[in-house]
Amino acid sequence: MSNNIVIAIDGYSSCGKSTLAKALAQKLHFIYIDSGAMYRAVTLYFLRERVNLHDNNAIAQALKNIHLNFNSRDYQSHITLNDEEVSEEIRQMPVSDNVSAVAAIKEVRHEMVRQQQRMGRSKNIVMDGRDIGTTVFPDAQLKIFMTADPKVRAERRYKELSLKNPGITLEDVFENIAHRDYQDTTREESPLVRAKDAIILDNTNLSPDEQLQFALDKLSDLLEP
Ligand code: C5P
Repeated sequence: MSNNIVIAIDGYSSCGKSTLAKALAQKLHFIYIDSGAMYRAVTLYFLRERVNLHDNNAIAQALKNIHLNFNSRDYQSHITLNDEEVSEEIRQMPVSDNVSAVAAIKEVRHEMVRQQQRMGRSKNIVMDGRDIGTTVFPDAQLKIFMTADPKVRAERRYKELSLKNPGITLEDVFENIAHRDYQDTTREESPLVRAKDAIILDNTNLSPDEQLQFALDKLSDLLEP
């Protein structure tokens, strides 16, 4: 039996999951895995190759041609798609606008979950996403379900994106977040839902340091009863 520790962080879009996950990984010297980056990289490939989302054979073939890898430099998430660094490109709006439709495809999810479970085997990890505590690692020692006021989420993400995309508006960002939340919570295949044993963390009024402390306290309660 392996005794590695898994911390699963799930929640709505742009809730600060990756900020918390990276900070925890850095503090605890765990490996950080950004599962959303994997769905985003698959989406980028599908867009570039014009894969028809309704053609199961094309999807299966495309999945065979996709090789994803993380380079965990500085606890940031650097992902390569067939050896090309795509970390920046997968955050742009064309990918954001299509990723939830791609992530709803059963074959895509099965392949990503398989790869995520392999990455987490026998290592201490922090993984963030939508189905980590429910499907990928249902036995994770600590599960956190994050939420925040949608307006606050849009403002935070807008601040980040507008630095590199001057044309973007707060409304674009708000709509994208609302649309992804809707698709993620209503899809058939492992929808975004709180695992029964997940701790809710609403960070509307919390700073990054405060949310980190909250998670560290929960972890120490669990590990040192
Ligand atoms: O985490 P991030 O917002 O980058 O994820 C992008 C999209 O990937 C989400 O909106 C969701 O549709 C999908 N996703 C998922 N399951 C995960 C992680 C992400 O369906 N575990």
